[in-house]
Amino acid sequence: MTELISKLEIKKIHQFVQKMHHIAQKIDIFCSAIMLQAQRRAYYIFNKREIQTSLKKRQGNCLRCGRCCHASFRCNYLEYDENGLSLCKVYDRKPLMCSLYPYNENDYFFHLKSTCGYKYDDE
Ligand code: SF4
Ligand code: SF4
Repeated sequence: MTELISKLEIKKIHQFVQKMHHIAQKIDIFCSAIMLQAQRRAYYIFNKREIQTSLKKRQGNCLRCGRCCHASFRCNYLEYDENGLSLCKVYDRKPLMCSLYPYNENDYFFHLKSTCGYKYDDE
């Protein structure tokens, strides 16, 4: 009986640790996304020409996963079509920083780099 109770307790502790780990991961992703959003705007202000050059090396296409549109907070203009592909409600006049994503090999939300359809030469 005591053994069963202790097994149940271990299971509960394990579940609790897993939950905490999951929450910590989410916080990590959220904070790093906020940081990148601030950094890329600041970088753009002082490196416009370099960014234009870098964008010419960008390959691939947007896969319309929509994940960069809710990397931190979900954008109010983000929608999905019946196939699950993202739709930008303001596509024709979307913010410049959206059009530029990702503007170089460092301009990725770290958790989205491997799944984004855009790639750079050396990747
Ligand atoms: S993460 Fe990449 S592929 Fe997905 S919507 Fe953003 S730019 Fe497109
Ligand atoms: S404005 Fe459009 S492209 Fe930019 S984050 Fe929102 S939904 Fe995405």
